[in-house]
Amino acid sequence: TSFDDVQLTEIIRNNVALARYDKPTPVQKYAIPIIINGRDLMACAQTGSGKTAAFLVPILNQMYELGHVPPPQSTRQYSRRKQYPLGLVLAPTRELATQIFEEAKKFAYRSRMRPAVLYGGNNTSEQMRELDRGCHLIVATPGRLEDMITRGKVGLENIRFLVLDEADRMLDMGFEPQIRRIVEQLNMPPTGQRQTLMFSATFPKQIQELASDFLSNYIFLAV
Ligand code: AMP
Repeated sequence: TSFDDVQLTEIIRNNVALARYDKPTPVQKYAIPIIINGRDLMACAQTGSGKTAAFLVPILNQMYELGHVPPPQSTRQYSRRKQYPLGLVLAPTRELATQIFEEAKKFAYRSRMRPAVLYGGNNTSEQMRELDRGCHLIVATPGRLEDMITRGKVGLENIRFLVLDEADRMLDMGFEPQIRRIVEQLNMPPTGQRQTLMFSATFPKQIQELASDFLSNYIFLAV
């Protein structure tokens, strides 16, 4: 198997090649077609399995294909506008959020899709400036995202793709209330409004409950 077997739009396929990924890992091989087909997904996968690209590649592909990329606008026009991203990835830690953001930049290269990253710490104004430059995909830890929503910098009304990465770790860290409040602000699924993907190393009862609350008619994948 190669990435050529997956129906990816040219720019994304090129970016996968530029990242020197030539053979999909098992989670990528199974998850990418499921996500491109629009299905919700609960995937049990460990760190190191290639799970990041397993969700970023198809989400960016769909955002691009569905024509969700706005026409070019100068930074000036974007400036100080509240951002309405189309994709949201929630992650437990600053380190993981940064890693996901770095991969998103690679796969979004030359596509006009802009990723942004938000995490806790003394960098609020820097992150706000970064948001002001416009973004289509936000990678965030739950607490800082809520903070930016409260400040009126981010609105979740346009979210079409939601990913919970390392969901079990987010619950271990006590983020369940934040996650539930964030998801409540998203479009309710009358199916098709929002595609939701959950990744978790383990599948305990709490994760099963989250999956049945957040996902609709989902596919379960264990690699
Ligand atoms: P992850 O499990 O997403 O954290 O990925 C683990 C590491 O494997 C990261 O450094 C990725 O850049 C790399 N990686 C993921 N998928 C592939 C692939 N298909 N080919 C080569 N390297 C990959």
